[in-house]
Formats: sequence, C-alpha cells, structure tokens
Amino acid sequence: MDRRLAESVRFVSLDVDGVLTDGSIWIGADSDSPHGAARDVRRFHALDGLAIRMMQRAGLVVAFLSGKRSAAVRLRARELDIAEVSLGSGKGKLSALRGMLARRGCTWDQAAHLGDDLTDLAVMERVGLPAAVVGAVPEVRAGAAWVGTVPGGEGAVREFAEALLVARGEWDGLVTEFREGGRFAG
Ligand SMILES: [Mg+2]
Repeated sequence: MDRRLAESVRFVSLDVDGVLTDGSIWIGADSDSPHGAARDVRRFHALDGLAIRMMQRAGLVVAFLSGKRSAAVRLRARELDIAEVSLGSGKGKLSALRGMLARRGCTWDQAAHLGDDLTDLAVMERVGLPAAVVGAVPEVRAGAAWVGTVPGGEGAVREFAEALLVARGEWDGLVTEFREGGRFAG
C-alpha cells in the first residue's frame, strides 16, 4: 500500500455486503403468515472484528456504509462501537459519506473506502484511498489504489487494516500491545 496515501487517512469507510460478508443475504421468516416476523442474518468474520478494533485503537474513525437496511448489520456495528453507520439511507453512499466526513471534520483526501460493487464507485472516485477486495467487480478494482487477496467475509477487512497500519508504521506497536497482554489486547 502506498505510504503517502495511508498516512493521510483519518476515516475508514467499509462497505458491508461482499466486504464484511461474503455477499450472502440470509432471509428467514417465523411463519408464512403475513404477520410472521422477518429474520435478517449475516455472517461476519472475527478477524475483521479485531481489525476494526485495531484501526480504532490507532485513532481512525471506522464507518459502515451500506446501501441496504439490516438489523443484523446494525447489531454488529453496535458490538464494535462503529462511530458512523449508514445502512440504506436512500440518498446513496456518496451523500451519506459526505455527511459523515463533515461531522468528523475530515476531507475526502483523508478518507479510505473498501468496496466491492458498482454502488461503491461514486465514493471510491472521491476518497484519497480507494480500496477493493479481491472479488470486487472489474470497474471497482480498476479504480482502486489497493486491491486485496482475501475474499469478502473471510478476513478481507483484516487484510486491508494490516496493510494500512503497516504502511502507517503502526502495526508493530499494536501487535506489541497484544504481546504485553494489555487491556486493549483482551
Ligand atoms: Mg458490497
């Protein structure tokens, strides 16, 4: 990863479906009656959870930016203390991210976005560090300054976070915290 781009980052925006997950959308219902409650389920990877904690520890603001409403994703965001969450705002990701950056006092150049599909293109063309998972569509990969090798839902965010923190010179210090068994390190 380009060191200059990485060092400028203060805000990390993560797409959800296909990045934090493998893209599967699990939908169930309690019954087939019209009143049966819908069940929305996603599968997340623990490696990504710790990666998000490490980025937060390094002082970065981490956001979930998804075009789809999801109670399951909202729950995961709460679990990880995600500071900015936009799930199916209806206004599109560009508008949602613009609002988040304004609230946090960040410029587009200080933002990274990790995406996989065409709905990520508009934000990827604006942020300073556009990044793509390995399974991203060709248009997204073509516009990315960094492309991973790990598929979404299998630790793709961990791979991205490690590349980012290594390029910033912050990875080794965080690993040392784990070696020393401090509170952050669990
Ligand atoms: Mg996606």
